Order: sequence, then structure tokens, then C-alpha cells
Amino acid sequence: MALKADLRHFLDEEGNVLELTEQAKTVFKFLTKIVSSVSENIEQPLIDVDLKCNSRADELSCVGSVEATCISIGMIEWHCDTCEASGTISNWQGSMWDKQERTIH
Ligand SMILES: [Zn+2]
Repeated sequence: MALKADLRHFLDEEGNVLELTEQAKTVFKFLTKIVSSVSENIEQPLIDVDLKCNSRADELSCVGSVEATCISIGMIEWHCDTCEASGTISNWQGSMWDKQERTIH
């Protein structure tokens, strides 16, 4: 089952992280690591994120690696290279984990 995450659900209006449960904190750390890796390498078609699949929840045992890609503006898709785990992350642009070079158009 795909995990659809909206980064704004973890943040208040000023972009600060809300009080999270331990479980949500684990997921949030997983998501923000993907966001910073992808936004740093935004020109690459597929980014190897330095994350193990099981780091998104305590009870998981899959040690597959996470790969991610920016599928459209503001939308990141990630998947595990070993199991069926996958998901999307939206509304991450402009957050403190967005590492894209700021370019003036
Ligand atoms: Zn996995």
C-alpha cells in the first residue's frame, strides 16, 4: 500500500514541526531525509537515498534501500528496491528540507 504523505500535515503555519508521536516522528524523519536527498539531486532521474526501508517504522525488518524520484513539480515518489513499499511526498517545496538551489527566473 502506498503511503501518501503531505509534509504540511507535520508542520504548523510557520513551517515548524508539530508535536509528534514517536511513530509519527519516525515516519517524519524518513520523509524529510528523502526530501533533502531528492531536492539536492533534483536533476537526477533516480536518487539512491541513504535510508533503509525499515527506518520508517520500528516493527519493520526490510533492509532494502530506498530510491526516490521527483515525478512532477512538488511531488516526490519513493519506493523500496526490495519489497513493495512505496509512497509519495507532497508539499515539501520551500520547507527547511528543500535543498534546491534558489534560482531567479
Ligand atoms: Zn522494503
